[in-house]
Formats: sequence, structure tokens, C-alpha cells
Amino acid sequence: MRICVVSYHSSPLEPAGSGKSGGMNVFIAHLYRQLASSCEVDIFVCGDRGRISFGPGIRVMHIDESDLNDFAEQIIMYSTTRHYDLIHTHYWLSGVVGLLTQEVLKIPWVHSLHTFEILKGIRTDQVRIEVENEIIRRCDVVISPTHREAAVMKHMNPRTHVITIPHGVDTKRFKPSANGHATLLYVGRIDPIKGLDLLVDALRCLGREIGLNIVGGPSKGKNNLESIKTYAHGLPVHFLGPVKFEELYKYYSNASMIIVPSYYESFGLVGLEAMASARPVIGFADTGLSETVGQNAGILVKRNARNLAHAISRLFDNQTLRHNLGANGRKKALNYSWEAIARQYYTTYENIIKP
Ligand code: UDP
Repeated sequence: MRICVVSYHSSPLEPAGSGKSGGMNVFIAHLYRQLASSCEVDIFVCGDRGRISFGPGIRVMHIDESDLNDFAEQIIMYSTTRHYDLIHTHYWLSGVVGLLTQEVLKIPWVHSLHTFEILKGIRTDQVRIEVENEIIRRCDVVISPTHREAAVMKHMNPRTHVITIPHGVDTKRFKPSANGHATLLYVGRIDPIKGLDLLVDALRCLGREIGLNIVGGPSKGKNNLESIKTYAHGLPVHFLGPVKFEELYKYYSNASMIIVPSYYESFGLVGLEAMASARPVIGFADTGLSETVGQNAGILVKRNARNLAHAISRLFDNQTLRHNLGANGRKKALNYSWEAIARQYYTTYENIIKP
């Protein structure tokens, strides 16, 4: 099987945790490395770095065309010699490439939204909502990481074929260790949607000194980082900057719990990494964490800073509860190894390719 993967705006070669590179980059790198043992994979990215091998059977193909029409033309050109069996587009900008190539390529088209604009709640972009709707309507299959998001898509477009496959985690890299720690951890890009303002509010509500480590860099310019630093002034909050994915497991191990205060989280890869590390997750129940973390691997609350503070205090004072929630998380995370998730993708691709 030969797959054309489109990740127009962001490359799996970029280190995750700042700028445009986050969960989707980690996802693409892990999924396709795993699939490359049974498929040939070309990942198309906008950029001028040429063609770079990303391991056996997998290449990152940079196309130096920022205009989506020109970018799509190049993919059509490559496909005349590569004869792809399937195209899988990631994120709405790549979905536009799917729209532009569909009628020429005439191969099955799979799309993953990664972020579903209509569900974001804050600062939504109407153009993007409409484009995503068009993509969902026109592609052959949408893959959603949660049933909740899949249900919204089905509701919007009853004829859309949506398949739910959760994201995966490297359960060998992220693994349990004793949890007697006293620090909270946030991992992720620093972006308004990630809700760090609520987390700072929660720390103020706590009325006691509990340290917070923040791992990750600014997502859209430095302003957000500077504002949140100012907002957290006087609190024991440590901004550690982006950390290489390969080193990140140590930060999970050294934390008592992981806080994911996002206003919107499609799936919550950080939550799953915390679970694999046997660390409880605290976040909001109206995000993708409600499926990823569920009821027994952390505490998910109704959105407000006071509830967040209450959950932090409760877990902070109860090591047994931290241990139990962490152990439940680890058990659940073992079902989400990349090997298992890649098998689900392979089967899905096979079924779509078959006439
Ligand atoms: N990440 C990383 N280094 C960092 C911060 C995050 O490798 O300094 C990884 C993290 O382990 C997770 C992904 O980036 O796999 C999550 O990024 P983000 O929170 O931005 O999530 P997104 O919104 O992109 O899904």
C-alpha cells in the first residue's frame, strides 16, 4: 500500500511544543513510522528542504509552494509516478489540498481535522468552519479521535462516513514511576486556547504554595508567553520552555499530576502521555479529555478556576488517590500503544481501498 500523506502547514521533522508544532506533529511522526513497516509513506509538507528520509519506507517531501493551488498541482504531478492508493490529509489547510486534488487523483480520500473549528468555542473563524464543513462533506472518510467529535460531524452531515480511532502513545517511553512529588505540570504550546489563564487563576484560589512547571513555548508570537508570565507574577510558576519530545518523559515522572486546562482539546495527547506515565490528569469535562482520561484516570471538572483549584488540592493531599488514578490511567493507556493504533489505521485504509 502506498499512501500520500498531506501535512501542509507543519512537519513531523519539527520539534513539538512551540510554534505550529504540537500534538499533530507527534501523531504524524509516530503513526506513520509505525505504518511504514507495512506501507510506503510520502508525507507532503510546505517548505524548501527537499526530500528527506524519515526512516525506512517513509519520506518527508517538501514542496516549496505556499499557494495551496500550486502545492496541490505538485502533489498531482508526484502521483503520476508514485501511483498512490490513498490520500490522507491532516488539518483543514491540507483538507483544502484534498478538495483541490480529489477530482484528478480519483483515489480514496481520508481526512483528519485535528482541531474542529466549530467546537473550539473561542475566537472561531467562520471561513474555516465553512471549509471544514465542505471537507467533511466531500472526503470519503473522516477519522476522528473521539466519539464525541464524530457524533457532531455525523449530526452536521448525516452522510459523512466517520470512523473513530483514538491517538496513540509510546508506552515504553512514557512509563510509571513512584509518585511522591509535589509539583504540578503543564505540557504544551503556550496559546490562549490552552487555558493557562484559568490555571493561574486556580493557583491563586488555592491559597497555598504549590509549584507549577510549564513546559512548552509560545505558539503565535511571544505576546502570549509574556502576558501569562506577567499574569502569574508572584506565584511559584516556572517557565521551562520547550523540551525535546525524547526528554519529556522525565518531566512527567517528576510531577505529582498533570493539568490540562484547555478551553478546547480535540483529544488531549498530553493527557494520554500523563496516563502512560501513571500520573493523574486534571482538566475540564467539556473537552476531548472526557473520553481520553474518562472517569477514573484523573479529575475532570466543570469549567472554572475554583473547580480546578479544588481538584488540585484534593489530589495534592491524597497520595493514595494519585496513585490509584495514575495506575488506572496506565492500564487504559496500554490499549493505546502506537502498534495497536497503527493496526486500526491499516485496517481502515485497507477497507477503504478495497472496491
Ligand atoms: N510537546 C513536546 N515538547 C514540549 C511541549 C509539548 O514534545 O515542550 C509535545 C507533547 O508531548 C505532546 C504535544 O507536544 O505530544 C502536545 O502539544 P500541544 O499541547 O501543543 O497540543 P496540540 O494542541 O498541538 O494537540
